[in-house]
Amino acid sequence: MRSTPPPMNSLTVCTHPLIQAALSRLRDHRTDCEEFRRHLRAMSMLLFVEAARDLETRTVEVTTPMEKTTGRKLVHPIVLVPILRAGLGMVDGIWPVVPAAQLAHIGIYRDEETARPHPYYSKFGPDLNIAEVFLLDPMLATGQSAVEAVNQLKAHGASRLRFICLVSAPEGIKTFHGTHPDVPVFTATVDLRLNEHSYIVPGLGDAGDRYFGTVR
Ligand code: URA
Repeated sequence: MRSTPPPMNSLTVCTHPLIQAALSRLRDHRTDCEEFRRHLRAMSMLLFVEAARDLETRTVEVTTPMEKTTGRKLVHPIVLVPILRAGLGMVDGIWPVVPAAQLAHIGIYRDEETARPHPYYSKFGPDLNIAEVFLLDPMLATGQSAVEAVNQLKAHGASRLRFICLVSAPEGIKTFHGTHPDVPVFTATVDLRLNEHSYIVPGLGDAGDRYFGTVR
């Protein structure tokens, strides 16, 4: 059971009220670290459910305590790929609903002067080529980190890819889909623009700092 493959440049803006309410709490500068974590996790889980809507399943036979029936089973393993470090917060929200999912990691830091991505770490398991791969980064700003991450994932055999971000900028979507039009993007909002430091406006600030408490 699967819908047709996503069209090129597929962008889904998830307008579910719970997602949008959580987004407002994340945006608010008064939201403290504890509350930020809670809403980021909930929002990530809800976005994941939306992004996983058309995962391929097959029929299986199940024997309940009463009788035999049929159910569905996922065909492909799931691999979650957070871009370090902020993507880890999204894993905290998503893993409880797919506890069997494997985790791969991609470390990319952004040069604050040039906003260019610098890959510094990656660890992939053996199943990338057969898996449904979900790339996770709360913020799609310039799009360069996400492009680099998907370059790496494709080079390691991934072909069933989706990208989940909480907040995106038009510039980032254009750059990302300019290189990877085959990878659908799921987000809660397309904000106005990037500022001169390549932060998303209105955005929510630095997602990693706010999630990990490395800011006052
Ligand atoms: N990364 C963030 O955490 N926030 C932005 O606005 C852009 C990149």
